[in-house]
Amino acid sequence: MTSIVSDLQTKFKNLDLSSNEVKTSAGRVLSCNDGVITIEGLKDVKNGELLMFRDGTTAMAMNLEKDSVGAILFSNDAVVSYGDYVFSTGKVAGVGVGDELLGRVINPLGEPLDGKRKLELKEYNPTERPSPKILDRAKVNRPLGTGIKIVDSMVPIGKGQRELIIGDRQTGKTSIALDAIVNQRDKNVICIYVAIGQKATNIAKIVDDLTNQNALSYTVVVASTAAQSAPMQYLAPYTGTAIAEYFMHKGRDVLIVYDDLSKHAVAYRTISLLLKRPSGREAYPGDIFYIHSRLLERSAQLSKELGGGSLTALPIVETQAGDISSYIPTNVISITDGQIYLESELFHLGIRPAVNVGLSVSRVGSSAQTESVRKQCGNIRLEQAHYRELQLFARFGADIDAGTKLALARGDRLTESLKQNKYSPTDFASLTAELLILNKDVMRGLPVSEVKGFVSGFLKKLREDESKVLSNIEKSGKLSVDDERCILDIAENYRREYMSR
Ligand code: ATP
Ligand code: MG
Repeated sequence: MTSIVSDLQTKFKNLDLSSNEVKTSAGRVLSCNDGVITIEGLKDVKNGELLMFRDGTTAMAMNLEKDSVGAILFSNDAVVSYGDYVFSTGKVAGVGVGDELLGRVINPLGEPLDGKRKLELKEYNPTERPSPKILDRAKVNRPLGTGIKIVDSMVPIGKGQRELIIGDRQTGKTSIALDAIVNQRDKNVICIYVAIGQKATNIAKIVDDLTNQNALSYTVVVASTAAQSAPMQYLAPYTGTAIAEYFMHKGRDVLIVYDDLSKHAVAYRTISLLLKRPSGREAYPGDIFYIHSRLLERSAQLSKELGGGSLTALPIVETQAGDISSYIPTNVISITDGQIYLESELFHLGIRPAVNVGLSVSRVGSSAQTESVRKQCGNIRLEQAHYRELQLFARFGADIDAGTKLALARGDRLTESLKQNKYSPTDFASLTAELLILNKDVMRGLPVSEVKGFVSGFLKKLREDESKVLSNIEKSGKLSVDDERCILDIAENYRREYMSR
């Protein structure tokens, strides 16, 4: 028994297991299927407790029954067979955490996958821990800019918020999350990207993109591939959250992306079925809602007394044929503080990011939104939702009155202006100026195809001629009357110059 304890100590240096403190008991493996094991003979085991094999392989107790214990293996390729000894440790399962993790790509066990130097982490955080209590939390009132115009203006995200990104496959879900990460460069926000059950090539591409955008240095990538066992995929978001909490409790702002929770739900379903738990709707176990709410409740804006750190979560969920009323989407929609709904139809029309404004919402974000942006998009949101309806109507070739024509023309320009390529973030000040000229219809009569060129030309001019205006907005978060007049003057002048070309 003592050798087991010392093995554990070498594996997790700070576990602080002294032989008289730890009450270990031994059991033997009855069966092993796809990383899910049943053990008989273990006594006094807690749910979530770390179990250990002789060779140092670890597992976590998940099912406590009268005669046996069900557990998931924390290993990609461990060979476990009938009769092997397993020991309880009295400690909850967890991962090593530390500043060293920044810029690294690790698997859900915390082992590096990027071939860089070995990690020597001194602290150990449990993978499951209670979420911050109500009194430990503060109001979400600081904006987390994503750099995506349509998101920052219409579905703003605040630090400490949980905003779901939902849509069919290949609608740009991952791109929105990655854009949000890239936009945190030089903003003192730490990012964690958790890949759950994705293709290894996809993960490699994402790491490449983050490196090329100079975003890896403040990011940790926790990767579990589709080829890995269900327990590894299940564990990934908890590992990511444990790392995020380490930074949050140090007073840092953290952004975590779970890509995606649909695959996480499938992994948990596999584990539950192997553990012979009763299944419910769509064969998911009854506690699937609890699993996700427990995970997402750990995101918070901590109070000043606790350092004021925050954890913002962007979970991603994939829908089938746009059906947001199936089991996992409805669950996660009801847990989060809003959703960004992406639509294939818009995506194929070339409207990217393909955000459906009518179905997207941010329940707490507007109180965190920068004032200058909030003031500009009061009407725009409604106008944009109305525009979609008018468009359907106009498609029938119905007679359109002048008012509707005007609304359609405004909508066309707004839609065109909110299109944005990947990795081309916009700051709050430029967004304010752009929304202002859209609101004031400066681009009236301009062909829709020229909207993008006009806006970039105008912003360039504004930056060259009156850079003070932009820095005023950036500093104060407000748009003063003088600055507004100055922006509109420049825009009208630029319009005259543009039209006479
Ligand atoms: P999956 O369901 O496979 O996870 P997804 O919904 O995460 O897909 P992405 O991988 O983000 O979608 O994007 C799908 C494709 O669309 C990618 O090739 C990406 O480059 C492209 N794309 C995403 N957003 C934009 C954009 N704003 N402008 C141009 N192309 C984009
Ligand atoms: Mg994706």
